[in-house]
Amino acid sequence: MGEVVLKMEEMESIRLKDYLGMDQREAADHMKVSQPTFHRILTEARKKIGCALVSGKAIRIHGGMYEMATTPLCKFQCYDCQHVWEVVHGTGRPQKCPECKSMNIHRAEDDRGYARAGHGRHGMR
Ligand SMILES: [Zn+2]
Repeated sequence: MGEVVLKMEEMESIRLKDYLGMDQREAADHMKVSQPTFHRILTEARKKIGCALVSGKAIRIHGGMYEMATTPLCKFQCYDCQHVWEVVHGTGRPQKCPECKSMNIHRAEDDRGYARAGHGRHGMR
């Protein structure tokens, strides 16, 4: 249900400040902007990320080399509580449901386009 679009410089501000742990002056220097500008960018970025978390929206990075919208995700579903969640492809199959800790989980179909692809085998295209 919708997505939040993060600009490249907003993504970069989070990366420098929160991910790499730079202080604000360092990070502003790095991006060649003034500290007030950096602060504004960072505030906006955090607001968007917060919004995405609270409302369950996807975060899309807009622009250039930071385009990450194609990150392959695997979707899993819990048979017990019907919880559906996604993990980044390559991080391995989850052991249990993050909601109810049930190990009764299965790989869910990607619901884009062919939500009801029929019963039986997965992976038919
Ligand atoms: Zn569950």
